[in-house]
Amino acid sequence: MSLERQLLMGICASPGIAVGPVTVFDRTSVPVPRRRVPEDAVDAEVGRLESAMAAARAEVEAAMEQLPEQAGPDHRLLLETQRMMLGDALLLDTARAAIRERGINAEWALRHTVDAMSARLRAAPEPYFRERADDVTSTGEHLLRVLTGVSRALPELQEPTILVASDLSPAEAAQLPPGRVRGIVTDGGTASGHTAILARALQVPAVVGVSEVTRAVGPGDTLILDALRGHVVVFPEPDEIEEAHERARGFDAFKGRLRASEGRAAETADGVRVGLHANVELELDVTTAMREGADGIGLYRTEFLYLDRAEPPSEDEQVRVYRRVARKMAPRAVTFRTFDLGADKMPRGMRRGPNPALGLRALRVAFVQPELLVTQLRALLRASCEGNVRVMFPMVSGLSDLRRARVLLDRARADLEAEGASYGPVAVGAMLEVPSAVLMADRLAEECDFFSLGTNDLTQYTLAVDRNDPRVAHLGSALDPAVLRLIDRAREVASARGLGLSLCGDLAADPVATPILLGLGLTELSMPMAAIPLVREVLSRLDAAALAPLARRALDCASAADVERMVADELTEALGDLWEGQGIELPRA
Ligand code: PEP
Ligand code: MG
Repeated sequence: MSLERQLLMGICASPGIAVGPVTVFDRTSVPVPRRRVPEDAVDAEVGRLESAMAAARAEVEAAMEQLPEQAGPDHRLLLETQRMMLGDALLLDTARAAIRERGINAEWALRHTVDAMSARLRAAPEPYFRERADDVTSTGEHLLRVLTGVSRALPELQEPTILVASDLSPAEAAQLPPGRVRGIVTDGGTASGHTAILARALQVPAVVGVSEVTRAVGPGDTLILDALRGHVVVFPEPDEIEEAHERARGFDAFKGRLRASEGRAAETADGVRVGLHANVELELDVTTAMREGADGIGLYRTEFLYLDRAEPPSEDEQVRVYRRVARKMAPRAVTFRTFDLGADKMPRGMRRGPNPALGLRALRVAFVQPELLVTQLRALLRASCEGNVRVMFPMVSGLSDLRRARVLLDRARADLEAEGASYGPVAVGAMLEVPSAVLMADRLAEECDFFSLGTNDLTQYTLAVDRNDPRVAHLGSALDPAVLRLIDRAREVASARGLGLSLCGDLAADPVATPILLGLGLTELSMPMAAIPLVREVLSRLDAAALAPLARRALDCASAADVERMVADELTEALGDLWEGQGIELPRA
């Protein structure tokens, strides 16, 4: 590790600036302690190795027992291979011999043995043996974790700190203690991935996709995280630290000015009322949503209830959460999106397929495990007695998905009826986030009550750009004219059929997109809460009536960059200071 100043570029995932000491959460490799073992302690050291092997094997066996029914044969095979490796005589004997003959500690002996074994396998001519090298390495890592006690769990954050992580699963991000995290920096990730979404929900600045940042810093090092410019500075100079503090104060003041409008209804300069709703991942966000003056919750991502636990939440547990939320927001509506598990939100024990975004995700999980969705729907129906509950199905790809989901809703209702349990009415909506759903919107409109455009996925699927792959995510902008045309089509169908249409993807929070969305006729937007004051301010400076021609021109642009250029040319005077406050620099013609 060098102690020299380094500027590392990344992607702004949640705006803001933070300066301070870091906590590093690197789980890509386990540090290996190396020490000599005196002769009289060798037996005990061998004993440590054997116990670690037994403990690791027990962990794998427990995981095999908990494997859900739908787990495929290769998941089982993977665990079986691991189990066999942990009983492998060659591995154990070689590591034992290294401890005895070289007088080194168990971790060191193990690393030595595993490296040698996997190097031999990697050099083998047969692909089968070459592939086994990874199994040996991962078994070695597993054993090292048991031996060193270094777990994959997030470190305890005692003091406010900048968290620097190789990556952060949505479940881990959801566990971060608010108030102790000044900012988040990750090696991987993209602006529309779920770590970014959660960072925005927690209102902490985040820069993601900073390759190798976990290697560049150590615990306690000072870092500047600049999520307006999209970079971090490792070992900054004192004057840089001073400047960063200054910029951070400037950003806070900017946020403060926006907050002056807190609680006011959003309206354009020419009096068009726009519904601003909150996207919520965690129950504790509901209070903040109320404070921000949200008109309702336009997207409650219920899958966060299912993450990082061995069993899915029970019906009663869900009823309690949904009820509290519905009650708190009443009479305003809460749109609960049924679980969108899979892709980058894997519950424990669920296997990642070869192409998760196109695989077993959202409703498809429900169709394989109908009871899981029926339980959730029963909970939502029961909670709907307490407030204005709307049920929204994610990743609807066409009519048959919607119909199958509705059959499960009918079943949940019939079961409650038969049990004499009380339940209330719910409006039923479909997310429009798969292009085929937008193409079929007129038919879907006949069988549901509302639509919500999920532009994060709609962009990924329309442009074939993986939203979670930092190498390509920048190629997929929701301002791409192809995506805008789909939004326009959805709006056209919704108005013709008198159906409610909202937009709950991150585009709703983009102050560059607001004029286009307004010009296309969208008047219901749902976004991370932190963005509500900004979008409210943008709207108050715009004339809705004047924006339709601009939006039409956007549909005819050649690219997202051209759309941005056009918006910049037309509206820098009105909105330039707000864009600048967010660190947005637009291309100009
Ligand atoms: C979307 O895809 O735009 C959306 C809102 O859903 P999520 O980001 O949770 O996939
Ligand atoms: Mg989505």
